Amino acid sequence: MTLSNTERKILEDSIRDIKDFPKEGIVFKDITTLLNNKEAFAVLMNHLYMKYKEYNLDYVAGIDARGFIFGAALAQMLKIGFVPIRKKGKLPYTTIGEKYALEYGVDEIEVHIDAFGEQKGAKVLLIDDLIATGGTANAAATLINQTGAECVEACFIIGLTFLDGIKKLKEKTPVYTLIEVN
Ligand code: AMP
Repeated sequence: MTLSNTERKILEDSIRDIKDFPKEGIVFKDITTLLNNKEAFAVLMNHLYMKYKEYNLDYVAGIDARGFIFGAALAQMLKIGFVPIRKKGKLPYTTIGEKYALEYGVDEIEVHIDAFGEQKGAKVLLIDDLIATGGTANAAATLINQTGAECVEACFIIGLTFLDGIKKLKEKTPVYTLIEVN
């Protein structure tokens, strides 16, 4: 299930670049303009549904916070469960956490220990809006596998290919990106 050039163009045109946000030198990829564009949002969700309906997934796991939007919508289309992977301290039940490096310092994400059900080996798709250094997604894939489930693929709307995040994550799990930014 490949994305056509016309579909890719609709998605690319719907994403807004904000220069120097949140700090100088960063070009922030703003996906709110994809979400409020009914044609682009439909192209995106239809493509993800057509691709992932063949995977026999048990869960979609979304990364805090933009991964929740696409992940929950996709899980509902696939008629499977959705699991949020959240920033430290947000989930109320027993969690496991994984730290990852930021430019300065470390951060941590968490998942509920029982989020992927009692049976081991649940097939999980990880999703977020964008992969940059890959630190967040790597930690998320590690967490999924630590619960006894299996991260079968990681999916991002946008991949920044001038960083080596995609390459590093591919050592852990297959990676799919719809739009690559060089
Ligand atoms: P990383 O862990 O470096 O791969 O960063 C990925 C996370 O940071 C994702 O949740 C993205 O939403 C966010 N992010 C990083 N860089 C950008 C960017 N240039 N534009 C928008 N979001 C970004």
